[in-house]
Amino acid sequence: MQTIDNFNFAGKKAFVRVDFNVPLDENFHITDDTRIRAALPTLKKILSGGGSLIIGSHLGRPKGATDKYSLKHILGHVSELLGTDVQFASDCIGREAADKAAALKSGEVLLLENLRFYAEEEGKPRGLAEDVSDEEKKAAKKAVKESQKTFTKTLASYADAYVNDAFGTAHRAHASTALIADSFDTDHKMFGYLMEKEVKAVEKVMHDIARPFTAIMGGSKVSSKIEIIENLLSKVDNLIITGGMTYTFTKAQGGKIGNSIVENDKLELALELIKKAEEKGVKLVLAVDAKIADAFSNDANTKFAPVGEIPDGWEGLDIGAETEKIYAEVIKASKTILWNGPTGVFEFENFTHGSRSVGDAIVEATKKGAFSLVGGGDSVACVNKFGIADKVSYVSTGGGALLEAIEGKTLPGIAAVKGEKY
Ligand code: AMP
Repeated sequence: MQTIDNFNFAGKKAFVRVDFNVPLDENFHITDDTRIRAALPTLKKILSGGGSLIIGSHLGRPKGATDKYSLKHILGHVSELLGTDVQFASDCIGREAADKAAALKSGEVLLLENLRFYAEEEGKPRGLAEDVSDEEKKAAKKAVKESQKTFTKTLASYADAYVNDAFGTAHRAHASTALIADSFDTDHKMFGYLMEKEVKAVEKVMHDIARPFTAIMGGSKVSSKIEIIENLLSKVDNLIITGGMTYTFTKAQGGKIGNSIVENDKLELALELIKKAEEKGVKLVLAVDAKIADAFSNDANTKFAPVGEIPDGWEGLDIGAETEKIYAEVIKASKTILWNGPTGVFEFENFTHGSRSVGDAIVEATKKGAFSLVGGGDSVACVNKFGIADKVSYVSTGGGALLEAIEGKTLPGIAAVKGEKY
């Protein structure tokens, strides 16, 4: 496989797919530029090697071209971070983009408009009336798939090489994240540095496991994590299921959970998971006590209770001290750790203690040589909030992409660059 370090970019144009999907405030100021900064090593490497850049990205989920999601709003900041004036094309496949891309000289940079202004990027028809027949839907889908080919080829025609550095969208088989790779031979497509790091981190957790391997799955709902939990059962030694999911398990086992969050249609599933864990010899670690509140609010009255003895009118919003101790013991004895999802409603300061204690235990284990991977939006927010992002082995930028990779699914963005099927 070609790599960014081996490729000679001198005099070459590179189409780089990045994930510049950054949050903007109402005045179009970037409130968190982490994603732009994460792509800088790749972009700078190509420029310093004498190449020029055509940068493609999406921003938000527009249903067509709209000022709100224009990438022109981030142009100034990208220029500042790259330390060079970045040109802008207000389209992706029109005359302007084509002319500007053709005129690019070594060291120059062109940012294309939001790729998702075009239905062809995602390859899904837009603006269909609700009452259209299945036939019409099929025809519309076929039409957009057809024009997607031209869209993809046009983007590819701007450049000599394709670089994918957008791990956040690697689980999507979109024009610029996957299909475009077909237009370049093996020697002219590669991962950017960010993507390389992400792929390595995932591979380490999936295939190169030092044991014991502990996964900490938190968050609100079992239903959204079921596939990954099942997949992890054949990989881990310890599985900590925490956060709002706890109470579905507690109720399934006959506990009293008061007003805690629960998925009543997943009680059977919870029991099945407990059984499966037993069969596979996985130690399933569930909370034993909770910090409970009399309202879903940071200012609610609080007390502690066993997870199965929560009075009516009260709900569990974080784990208790006994549970913190149990989790910490398991984590500190681990050699590989995956953390996805908080132990409680960490957005409320009064319910961050549990997540913080998990973070601290992971930091300690990492100091003793464990490999720790933190991923998924909320756990990343946690490690940033607690100031421990640089004390764990790897913080993934991908939410959905990371989880799908760990579920064992093929990520189109990765497979396409490797020339594999997806
Ligand atoms: P997810 O998006 O599934 O990873 O879930 C993350 C969300 O779960 C966060 O916004 C937390 O506030 C929420 N959460 C964690 N624990 C609880 C709980 N005990 N009750 C309600 N929500 C929770």
